[in-house]
This record gives sequence, C-alpha cells and structure tokens, in this order.
Amino acid sequence: TEERTKYGRVMLKISGEALMGDTAFGLHPPTVQRIAREVKSVHDMGVEICMVIGGGNIFRGLQGSAQGMERTTADYMGMLATVMNALAMQSALEELKIHTRVISAIPMDQVCEPYIRRRAVRHLEKKRVCIFAAGTGNPYFTTDTAATLRANEMSCEAIFKGTKVDGVYDKDPNKFDDAVRYERISYDEVLQKHLGVMDASAIALARDNHLPIIVFSLDDTGGFKGILAGEGTSTTVHD
Ligand code: UDP
Repeated sequence: TEERTKYGRVMLKISGEALMGDTAFGLHPPTVQRIAREVKSVHDMGVEICMVIGGGNIFRGLQGSAQGMERTTADYMGMLATVMNALAMQSALEELKIHTRVISAIPMDQVCEPYIRRRAVRHLEKKRVCIFAAGTGNPYFTTDTAATLRANEMSCEAIFKGTKVDGVYDKDPNKFDDAVRYERISYDEVLQKHLGVMDASAIALARDNHLPIIVFSLDDTGGFKGILAGEGTSTTVHD
C-alpha cells in the first residue's frame, strides 16, 4: 500500500474487553473480526506484528479472589481466558489469510505453541502475526506486563495500546468536558499521577528499557494503521 510507517516491528496490546463489543461478557465475533481487519491493514504495510490480548472479558484473577477464590488459582483462570481470546483472534486473522501463531506462556501443545523466544522471532521474520497468550505465565501479573515483557524480548520498537479513548488525559474525558489529552508524557509522570495507562509494573518495565507506549483509540476504523503512519491523535509515553 501507499501508506508508509517508520515502524518495523510492533506490539499491539488490547484488553479482553475490547473483544466484547457492546455486549457485557465474552466474545463478540463481529468485533473480533473488525479488530482483525485493523491488524491486517497494518500487516499489509509490511510491519511485523506481536499481539497480547487480555482476558478481562471472561475472567480476572482479582474478581475471583474477591469472591473467595484462592488468588493464584484465579489468576491461572485469567491466563486461560487470554488463550481463548487469542484463539478467537487467530481464527479471525486466518479468515483474512494472515498466517498467525498463538504462543502460550503455559505449554498446551494440542492448542497452540509453547513460548520459545527464538522460534517466535523467526515467525515474526516470516511475517506471521504472533499472539502471545497466557500472560507472563505467572500469577500476580497482568497482560500489560506480559505485553511489555514480550515487546522487549521481541525487540519491538513500541507498544501500541489500543483503548476506547484516543490517548491519555489528565482526567477522565468521559466525565469531564475540560479533560486535556497529553501529546507526550513521561513514564515517571504517568506513575506519579496514577494515570491508568497500564499498571505500574508494566510502566516501570517499559521505562527501564526505553520502550515507548503509544495509547490510541481502536474504535475508529483505520485507526491502528493511521497511528502507525503518523496520523490521528494519540499519546506517547516516553523517557
Ligand atoms: N494474569 C496473570 N498473569 C499474567 C497475565 C494475566 O495472572 O501474566 C491473569 C490475571 O488474573 C488477570 C487475568 O489474567 O486478571 C486477565 O488479564 P488482564 O486483567 O491483564 O486482562 P485485561 O484487563 O487486559 O483484559
């Protein structure tokens, strides 16, 4: 395509809730398909794509433990939820003829590949979309941290965090008309002001490795491709 981008390899992080559409739980296949088309449009630009999808549309460890479930068990259930989301996205991408691998931090060989770093890098070089599932494989972490970890391991140039809003604001733009969007903001300011970009451990891991986080809206069609081409509005979290 005509559009150009400075990026060669990126991580796209989306929450599980992004796959719900307007429903209250689980997967909304038309929404999964719409996001798959967004990914395809960036893949068509020649960009190597890593993805991490959360699991909050199905299960969150903290919710389970608040209801009396043992925390680590609940966290494993959350990690398994991310595998289901990854499989749904793989199915939608392969429907669009994009070769895709689901790579799990917890081996489940009949379902998807285990995570082997060099093998994942090879998939990316062959332009296969790699969806990293089961988070970091450890309880007490989140998929934001998993996205940052894998982005570092895969030498991604940036993490693109697709959300419902087009960047980071000084206050909730859905509640306050005078909320102001940051064009750029430092990792430290995000941490100090408790701006809910990603959880603190993910922000710290990105900061320590100078990995930029670009927050953008995944709701607009063509949004992901536009942001990669340097168009549209977003917020970059940087040094
Ligand atoms: N989780 C975990 N370790 C990880 C990643 C995820 O234990 O490395 C669990 C945790 O219980 C979490 C759930 O998986 O609540 C779903 O992930 P997350 O909450 O990050 O999903 P999102 O909010 O992005 O949909």
